[in-house]
Order: sequence, then C-alpha cells, then structure tokens
Amino acid sequence: MLTDLNYVRSIVFDLDGTLYINQAVANEIQQAANALVASARGVSVKKAEAIIRCARSRLAEDLEEEPTLTRTCMELGVEVPDLHRAFRAHVHPERHLAVDPVLFALLDSLSDDFDLYIYTNNNLPLAQKILALLGVESLFKRLYTIEFAWVPKPDLETLKRVLEDIGGTTDSFLFIGDRHQVDLQAPLSLGIPTLLVNETADLLQIHKLLGIIPYGRLESPLYLSRPEGIKGL
Ligand SMILES: [Mg+2]
Repeated sequence: MLTDLNYVRSIVFDLDGTLYINQAVANEIQQAANALVASARGVSVKKAEAIIRCARSRLAEDLEEEPTLTRTCMELGVEVPDLHRAFRAHVHPERHLAVDPVLFALLDSLSDDFDLYIYTNNNLPLAQKILALLGVESLFKRLYTIEFAWVPKPDLETLKRVLEDIGGTTDSFLFIGDRHQVDLQAPLSLGIPTLLVNETADLLQIHKLLGIIPYGRLESPLYLSRPEGIKGL
C-alpha cells in the first residue's frame, strides 16, 4: 500500500530475495539447515530435509501462512544462534554473488535523499559479506540483523524496537521486501507504507514512486525473474 510518500525519510530493505535473488545461495542456506537438523536428530541429511519439509507444511496449515525457514527450524527445537552458526560455516555467497552496478546506482541515488537500512533475518557477518559482494555495503546507515533481538521477522515487538532505534513517525518510513507476510504485514499494521518486490526489477518502482529520477533509466541487469521455489530465511 503506497499512499503519501512525501514524508519518507528512512527506507528499510529486506536483504535476501529483495536486493538480490540467487538460487545457489538459497540452496546453501537450506542445506546448512538440513545438516544442522540431521546432526541434532542423529538422522541422515535426506531424512532431515524431509523432517523440515513436513514441519514447514504443518506450520503453514496451523499459521495459515508460509513459515520462514528460521521459524520452521525453531519449531523443530533448533536454537536460532545455532542455526546462524551453521549458516556462517556453510553458506558461501562469495562463490555466487558479484558486484551489481545497477543496484549500486539505484541505491546510491536514493541515499542522497533518504537514510537506507537493512532489516533481515540473516546474521551480521553474512549480511555484511553479501552487501560487500554486491558492492553496496557503504550505502546503508545501519543493518538490523538477527543479532539485534534474536527473534526473526515477522515480529511486531522487534519491529517496534527497530523503528524506535531509527526514529521518526510512521509516515517517515518505507519498508521494502519480497514476502508480504514476513517483511511487510507488521509495518503495514502500524500504518507504514510498504512496497512488495516480486523480482529485483520491481526495485525500480521506488524511484518512480518517490519521484526521484525518470523511470526507465536503469535497465536490463535488474530484469531477472524470480526462480520458482526460492525460500528465504
Ligand atoms: Mg527476503
């Protein structure tokens, strides 16, 4: 829902699936979770994968929404810090990501007029690494990662802490993410404007909506469609 954006000062981005989409990184995240559940339960990785899949669909039915991987692993008794230790050990974005000059141009022009933030279920070392690989790490004022509260999105209380930390009225924020229920539902419930991006090309709408640069100046590299089945943190 985008209404009056005249008062926006702070743009809060989700990271994975929003600023980049990469199936190999998504696979490594899933495999790290599989390996952790396998070792915790003393079962094979294949069995662990099935356990996670079952838990995910059971939770989806209970919650009537698709649970995050973090939430699913918590349901299986995994501690969030342990999950992130596994991610840090087994997820290698440096093997799959490269500088994205179009993303840099887009965020750099936004950073002239707005403070940019990341609010992600990812951890600080990985988030920093991913942003550095994309070439955009210098453009963000602060990163709100899982370490901020150790409670994954969606969580209203943690969101309120993030808002308080940044400071400003609800209409001074714009939240941008690739999953409505995870990234945007809680901000929306507080009356904060949001933008759902289904593919990275949708990020171009930010400028259009905020009326900053002529729409269409940035092209092709961002026009990647979202591969099916990518599941975020
Ligand atoms: Mg995401």
